[in-house]
Amino acid sequence: MKIGFIGLGNMGGPMAANLAAAGHEVTGFDLSAAMPKGVAAAATGAEAATGKDVVITMLPNGAILRSVAAELIPAMTAGAVLCDCSTVDVESTRAVAEQAAAAGLDALDAPVSGGVGGATEGTLTFMVGGSDAGFATVKPLFDIMGQKAVHCGDAGAGQSAKICNNMILGVTMIATCEAFALADKLGLSREKMFDVVSTSSGYSWSMNAYCPAPGVGPKTPADNDYTPGFAAELMLKDLRLSQQAAEAVDADTPMGQTAAALYTDFVESEGGKGKDFSAMLPRFEKRGRG
Ligand code: NAD
Repeated sequence: MKIGFIGLGNMGGPMAANLAAAGHEVTGFDLSAAMPKGVAAAATGAEAATGKDVVITMLPNGAILRSVAAELIPAMTAGAVLCDCSTVDVESTRAVAEQAAAAGLDALDAPVSGGVGGATEGTLTFMVGGSDAGFATVKPLFDIMGQKAVHCGDAGAGQSAKICNNMILGVTMIATCEAFALADKLGLSREKMFDVVSTSSGYSWSMNAYCPAPGVGPKTPADNDYTPGFAAELMLKDLRLSQQAAEAVDADTPMGQTAAALYTDFVESEGGKGKDFSAMLPRFEKRGRG
């Protein structure tokens, strides 16, 4: 396939490289990032999108997606698919899908889970919103870049699944960290805490697969001084998107709201920026109830 790829940063770079390595013709554009191996450089986003079967975007946020899409859509060939893999707000995703449809294009929202490691190894999970036909066209590319692609529904369904998943993740990580900090103060060893909870009803991905306590359970960012992994500011971004969506549809999400507030403090005034999101544990460790 002929593929345009816009946004070749930490995630987009290795994703585009994997498509090129699998034999697809990939043309990239980024404001600053270098082109990965096998990807031809275009001078503009519109140039990268012209004459392509699929155009993939991997950008920082919804406002940037909207402005980039406004440039790409007129350059694309009717019948082509615009596939956005960024994590953005549901409203921006739906607005871009409408503009694409008006221009005779198919559009997918296909945010990912799996981080830079998953992007590099080609083991991402894609959560996809959009038409059956669009999904069928891009599925072979999802299979190269990832291990699983779930077609969640119409436009916006992929982003909805992503922010609901990450709201659960933010809440369970906080719950796991505060429970470790309580266990410390009760004199329980972290090893025993892990042994019990990871095989009892308190288990979760945060405890079992991404344990925030150094030296306990599997190897995680906690064992590397909380170097991300998944940075606290990215978790904050996703929690804010979940609360923006909850406000838009009047959903009561008190735990998500609290998690967003805690990560806001952590990132903006407690030194959490640049740390893995599991560094909530040392934050709780240092605190009392006051
Ligand atoms: P990044 O900042 O490394 O990459 C974004 C790239 O977009 C940059 O190279 C930037 O130069 C480029 N860009 C910005 N504006 C542009 C424009 N107008 N035209 C062309 N290029 C432009 O970010 P990332 O970590 O690759 O994340 C990308 C998206 O993936 C985000 O939406 C993020 O939330 C999501 N995501 C990231 C992770 C992760 O672990 N990093 C995991 C899952 C999802």
